[in-house]
Amino acid sequence: MKMRLVKLLTLLLFTVPIYAKDRPNVILFLVDDMGLMDTSVPFIIDASGKPKTYPLNSFYKTPNMEKLANQGVRFTNFYAHSVCSPTRTTLMTGQNSARHGVTNYIKPESNNRGAYGPKDWNWTGIKKNTLTLPKLLKDNGYQTIHVGKAHFAPIGYEGEDPCNIGFNVNIGGSAIGQPGSYYGKDGYGNIAGNKKRAVQGLEAYYKDDIFLTEALTIEANKQISKAVDKEKPFFLYMAHYAVHAPFHTDPRFIDHYNNSDKSKRAKAYATLIEGIDKSLGDIIHHVNELGIGENTLIIFMGDNGSDAPLPIKKNYSSSSPIKGKKGNNWEGGMRVPFIASWVKPSSQKTLQQDTPVKKDAIQKQMGTAMDILPTICSITNTKIPKEMTIDGFSLELQFDGKRNRHRNEIFLNHFPHKHRSSYFTSMVKYPWKVIYHYPVEKAASYELYNLKEDPFETSNLASENTKQLHKMMKSLDRELIKEHALYPKKDGQLLKPII
Ligand code: CA
Repeated sequence: MKMRLVKLLTLLLFTVPIYAKDRPNVILFLVDDMGLMDTSVPFIIDASGKPKTYPLNSFYKTPNMEKLANQGVRFTNFYAHSVCSPTRTTLMTGQNSARHGVTNYIKPESNNRGAYGPKDWNWTGIKKNTLTLPKLLKDNGYQTIHVGKAHFAPIGYEGEDPCNIGFNVNIGGSAIGQPGSYYGKDGYGNIAGNKKRAVQGLEAYYKDDIFLTEALTIEANKQISKAVDKEKPFFLYMAHYAVHAPFHTDPRFIDHYNNSDKSKRAKAYATLIEGIDKSLGDIIHHVNELGIGENTLIIFMGDNGSDAPLPIKKNYSSSSPIKGKKGNNWEGGMRVPFIASWVKPSSQKTLQQDTPVKKDAIQKQMGTAMDILPTICSITNTKIPKEMTIDGFSLELQFDGKRNRHRNEIFLNHFPHKHRSSYFTSMVKYPWKVIYHYPVEKAASYELYNLKEDPFETSNLASENTKQLHKMMKSLDRELIKEHALYPKKDGQLLKPII
């Protein structure tokens, strides 16, 4: 009997760690306000399907992203919502913003619905009982680590603390959507800068004036080490505050931009970009040093279009040649950089055979922020409960450079609020795109583009191709109804789309 017990214990001792080691770690590396042109990696393809370098790609320096793109897959057509909180809630829930109801960015102190926005929009954000990606992963034995910007709920509401929505650990995340300062000497807003937006819990970095991006990277690496020590697979949500405003210069990189003729603010922005690129490199280096590179998948993405402080010429600016920027209804508001790769690619590794990621691959088929939850759940063998409604699709086939015939290629961005572009719903159903403007400030109006022929949205076909416009509007209406969207309201009238 004793022998059997010893045998059983030995078996357990050896089984548990091996089991833990054989499950992939996942790093979701999310950069705030990083649009698809804020990098030296070209994400726009030419007519032959090859990546094409534009002037903005030559301005920014992101060598670690280049390495990651060379060893993994880059998506040229990846969509996120046009502002922060909608995308972040989508990442946590796998749902489109029209369904989860966080259709605008959350203001930490108040309801941000706008004069005609729906009264019942989800301005209080994610709740304790919301089924989220980190919650599912935690239940499946993962160490779930939140580092950086959360912005899931306002001050005083449950989702303010990432540990209430499924994370084991929270470093620096709260209701705020931007840091009070990027400088350690300012206490990240606790000592100087915007005190209402102070980042909490990084006191150790004040004295040496460590830049916020660097402090968060050091903390993230410590948490990775801790998870490895515990022999637990981990999910790291590395959500940098950078490159969101305020555009503070990261002194480590400013010498790289001395010869540029761009404005001081634009150069500061470039240093913020280079800071997150260094962070990416440092985390990859740390994971490899720990010997877990072959077991760790990294997903790199932005949360909405670029907000780079560049001049706007006829609606072309920080995402040029793509039209528009963060908050806009055009492609520049919603197209983001996206790269996936194993940290250390190895065709011998069973885990990587199960989830192959094609090397130096260009994936042209659409991907969206809604796909992140089903993808990570599938890769980690995490069950999605039946009661969860998911709007996305697993990206596994697309990671392998293949086309997924079973997914739709629809991206709906429902924005019944006031911002840079106000009271609109846009829908891409490739190759077509429609933008509907609700009759709030002016009469209802429509934009229609063929993104295959006109990727930079130069020619509005709404009045010349009324047949296609009607088709797209019918489709947009169906999507809104399917996702239980809420509409703007004016003079007591609910403003449903006019088809
Ligand atoms: Ca953002």
